[in-house]
Amino acid sequence: MRKGGLRLNILSVFDPWDSPLCYCPFKFSLNPYTGCSIGCHYCYATAYIGLKPSQAKKNALNRLLRDLAKIPPGAIINVGTSSDPYPPEEREVGLTRALLEALVPAGFKILITTKGVLYATRDIDLISKGNVAVTPTITMLDEAKARVVEPLAPSPLERIKAVELASRAGVPVGVRVDPIIPYVNDDRYEIEELLGRLADAGARFIVTSTYKARPDNLARMREALGEIGEMVYRLYREKGVKMHGYIYLPRDMRERLLRPVVREAARLGLEYATCREGFRGREWFNAGSCDGSHLIPLRIKPRRLAERLDKWLGASG
Ligand code: SF4
Repeated sequence: MRKGGLRLNILSVFDPWDSPLCYCPFKFSLNPYTGCSIGCHYCYATAYIGLKPSQAKKNALNRLLRDLAKIPPGAIINVGTSSDPYPPEEREVGLTRALLEALVPAGFKILITTKGVLYATRDIDLISKGNVAVTPTITMLDEAKARVVEPLAPSPLERIKAVELASRAGVPVGVRVDPIIPYVNDDRYEIEELLGRLADAGARFIVTSTYKARPDNLARMREALGEIGEMVYRLYREKGVKMHGYIYLPRDMRERLLRPVVREAARLGLEYATCREGFRGREWFNAGSCDGSHLIPLRIKPRRLAERLDKWLGASG
């Protein structure tokens, strides 16, 4: 891929489909897999890459090593922006682990976004030594509902335990309570309980956003969620507004959906942000970044980083 003057192979410059409502800092994306077996019905990525199971990218490690020589030491690399890096297959395949084994010692700033738990239950030895923060997604507490909406993701309870494990190991955790879907996970009391559990587990930051529909994911939601799916479908069809390629709910509805999340985060003393809503002001955003990249610790100091990178690239090839 060529972007911003760089010829990259497996990395790409993060650019959420050209949305002017994205306030993320400059960063690179790394998706070890293409497709995603977790199969969330609301998944945005399927509109671009289709609905297919996770497939490990071929020759990924060599491609990554070549790309790393071209990007600045200390750059932010967000692992898992359009395909989960810890799908069920990762347990056997180990590709994400292999790529992190290259990235972590080289000192890049790494942000891992996932619905999986292996970052904590298997890879914590590695990520706790590096410049790594994690932003797992946990959308709701209700196990049965989560099983329908996010079929092959670990249960919310397992994901909260992973947050606790990572926090205890000193890895900063922000949680994506994202997306909030009307009628599905917008109950104020459930949101408050979820945030309380996340704060107890050690999460420091919450990022949230409303569900923005695309025709394909809206059809999946309608089919999978029965009566509730029909209500979601009608709401977006009747009230939705097309913005930047998505169907957004009107602003007043989106504010109503997200206010319980940001208010509870503020009450609990957590940092919070909203994602791709176009909301500004302290009510919606009090964190150092919207994606959690401000949480990334510098365990490998910038001064040593270039040396390490040179040495490591020399040794690898
Ligand atoms: S885990 Fe992420 S990439 Fe995978 S299906 Fe769910 S939303 Fe899509």
